[in-house]
Amino acid sequence: MLMDGTAAARRIVDQAAADAATLTANGVTPCLATVLVGSDPASVTYVRMKQNRSAKAGIGSWHVELPDTITTGTLVAALTELSQDPDVHGILLQHPVPPHIDERAAFEAIDPAKDVDGVTMHSFAAMAFGEPGFVSATPGGILRLLDEYEVDPAGKHAVVVGRSPILGKPVGMMLLARDATVTYCHSRTADLASYTRQADILVAAVGRPRFITGADIKPGAVVIDAGYNPGNVGDVDFDSAAEKASLITPVPGGVGPMTIAVLLEQTVEAARRQLVRR
Ligand code: NAP
Repeated sequence: MLMDGTAAARRIVDQAAADAATLTANGVTPCLATVLVGSDPASVTYVRMKQNRSAKAGIGSWHVELPDTITTGTLVAALTELSQDPDVHGILLQHPVPPHIDERAAFEAIDPAKDVDGVTMHSFAAMAFGEPGFVSATPGGILRLLDEYEVDPAGKHAVVVGRSPILGKPVGMMLLARDATVTYCHSRTADLASYTRQADILVAAVGRPRFITGADIKPGAVVIDAGYNPGNVGDVDFDSAAEKASLITPVPGGVGPMTIAVLLEQTVEAARRQLVRR
């Protein structure tokens, strides 16, 4: 059975839109600032998609575009300015930034109260400690999709392939917080398939097209493909995996729309919290 991220995301965005309308009626229109460094075509598309979805949900957007020749200092200054701007409620720095820029330093310039993409160390720590904060959007979207399909991670063996700070690592920690037994795999894992074949819940977050095939999957597993590679191809070989899985996300239309939905939901929540604090 397909896990329809587009439909689940629509429900989240509809609620976010209703909440945004209430806030707007109270004098505050939620605003998401997107920051793009350089002109990588995939990043340009992702940012545009986020702006379009924001507009449809009644969320204002503010866009900052910087050339790929800028320094870390210039990017940090731009993000600091947005962090201090009372009209901006959420900030998204499109990942990845050009290699000469210190991406971690840039992320840390985002005020945690506006970190609606959940990329700062503060947000990561809050998630790890189970304290309030904004979760990393893609892992947050994955957990929401599991909830939509009534997949309870408690007691299940979740295997996460990938350990990046914005995807693999936090999704494993969120599954752990929901009482799954979690195994992380990465590029140095020996005999990867011996782990993936034990997974009740398998999360692919590798960045390699069709890397995981049906032969690597336990019959009846829930398969979440977070990968998004050129040509709209995931990290899972969908056709062979679908023969083994009980539930599987398509690419596109699985994790991607859920990521944007969580981003918008958290932007509205950030605006609400900032209004309450006034
Ligand atoms: P990343 O930072 O490049 O991390 C990739 C991870 O995969 C690393 O932990 C790496 O291990 C591991 N890996 C690489 N080759 C491997 C191999 N042969 N065997 C096992 N593990 C291997 O990528 P990311 O940012 O996490 O993104 C992963 C994928 O998700 C990409 O396709 C990306 O486009 C997609 N993504 C989608 C969304 C969305 O909204 N749908 C959002 C973010 C990312 P090491 O740590 O050992 O290097």
